Amino acid sequence: SVEPEAVLIGKQEALSLYIPRKKFSHKGTYGHALVIGGSYGKVGAVYLAGKACLSVGAGLLTTYLPKCGYPVLQTALPEGMVLTDVNEDHISTIAFDLKPTVIGIGVGLGRHRATVDAFKAFLRKNTSPLVVDADALNILSENHDLLELLPLESVLTPHPKELERLIGSWKDDFEKLEKSRQFAGKYNLILVIKGAHTTTIHKDRIYVNSTGNPGMATGGSGDVLTGMITGLISQGYTALYAAVFGVYLHGKAGDIAVSGMGYEALTATGIIDHIGNAFMDLF
Ligand code: AMP
Ligand code: MG
Repeated sequence: SVEPEAVLIGKQEALSLYIPRKKFSHKGTYGHALVIGGSYGKVGAVYLAGKACLSVGAGLLTTYLPKCGYPVLQTALPEGMVLTDVNEDHISTIAFDLKPTVIGIGVGLGRHRATVDAFKAFLRKNTSPLVVDADALNILSENHDLLELLPLESVLTPHPKELERLIGSWKDDFEKLEKSRQFAGKYNLILVIKGAHTTTIHKDRIYVNSTGNPGMATGGSGDVLTGMITGLISQGYTALYAAVFGVYLHGKAGDIAVSGMGYEALTATGIIDHIGNAFMDLF
């Protein structure tokens, strides 16, 4: 096999990926992102991903979630549009009249039987680029045949447990990386292996992130990342660069946030609040 080339992503590398905002642009220039997820008690995940998606600069955001999420999203995130499932507590059919630029799916989704069936049906008809996270990854782990239905260059963002469910266990970091590369290569995916040094794998390339801190080990942190990557793809970043740049900005936002409050107090909302500062830190 080809010896993989590993690149450390620091500020200079991140800056080289940045696409400046154009003066004569409008919201259509920056795409229409759709975030699908949520279930009773996990609606906040969709809020976090949606807000993060808008905070990296997506032109328009629609969230799709069960009915119980409607008042929450319309109140907490008035910038976003909301579509609801026919079901009250969990997603049971994924149907919408919209051609999104990109779809982020899985945050807070749950794994109700009807949700699993809806996700399967969705993958069979979907043609939009995908960012797949959380319970959508867990559903893929239990149904490996679905992996063939993912669009090429879909971005998958597993944390260690989700990765283990996807590719099986490993005995050391070398085997973890090797199994991840084989998996990403087989399905032509962009695999974002989350952790202290989040590593993004695509074909023979490996990108190791330099930002982030243990304060980010907190509920909702990953949902924020999913929204950020989705929002970057929405405005024209390639899926690979959206993943690499999104991971860098997410970690940097966390680093800037803890510089004022310490690790313990950081919450996912705090990461979102500093996304703008992470962009500004590039220059
Ligand atoms: P999730 O488990 O899906 O909420 O994702 C957690 C997010 O926080 C990922 O983006 C991780 O890379 C990040 N994270 C978790 N723990 C750490 C850590 N110790 N250092 C840096 N980043 C972390
Ligand atoms: Mg997560």
